[in-house]
Amino acid sequence: MSDNTLLVEKILTALPQLQCKKCTYEDCLSYAQAVVSDDEDLNKCEPGGTHTENQLKNILKNNDPIKENKIKNYQIAEIRVEECIGCTICIKVCPVDAIIGARHQKHYILNDQCNGCELCISQCPVDCMEMQQYEDNKDWVWPGMQADTSKVYYDNKNIRLNKIKEAKKIARESTNKSHQIKTYIQDVISREKSKNNKIKEYE
Ligand code: SF4
Ligand code: SF4
Ligand code: SF4
Repeated sequence: MSDNTLLVEKILTALPQLQCKKCTYEDCLSYAQAVVSDDEDLNKCEPGGTHTENQLKNILKNNDPIKENKIKNYQIAEIRVEECIGCTICIKVCPVDAIIGARHQKHYILNDQCNGCELCISQCPVDCMEMQQYEDNKDWVWPGMQADTSKVYYDNKNIRLNKIKEAKKIARESTNKSHQIKTYIQDVISREKSKNNKIKEYE
């Protein structure tokens, strides 16, 4: 493993794993990579705050170890179910599959899976989602099990989406191929027809 890859991994461990895009990057890994490869500012992880900024500074100065960080009493998303129109947008937006529901059906939050990233809130077309204090007043803690599990949910979602993308690509290619074969056969038939017509002219 190269030194840069190791450094990216250390920095990633020091990030909250919310995959919330508040750093303006696609996810925590992309921000960690930008810190290492593009000298990105160390204060861009808003949920991590100054603790995370200092932690990243220490890692870059080779001052380990990474200490525990937490968001106290983190909030999770809530759906006013009676207003939900079942558009499924929030399911698509949620990075960790913490929302369940089907088209035109009511949607629900899986409280234990929601990491409080807030990505779904502004996307609901009928504004029926809001952030609420977690009923047991839990803290969001990282590095540790909670953040690791959230990252696993995120990685699994990406694997699933990539598989769907790949399956769609294969289906598209196969449709194109059968279209090409059909066109080829039609060409052959029409060439044969025109040959036969010519032969008939000389008979
Ligand atoms: S938790 Fe921090 S590093 Fe991760 S996506 Fe959100 S802002 Fe970016
Ligand atoms: S339910 Fe909303 S706030 Fe919770 S993890 Fe999913 S997108 Fe983020
Ligand atoms: S985005 Fe809003 S309306 Fe659409 S499914 Fe989610 S909660 Fe329901």
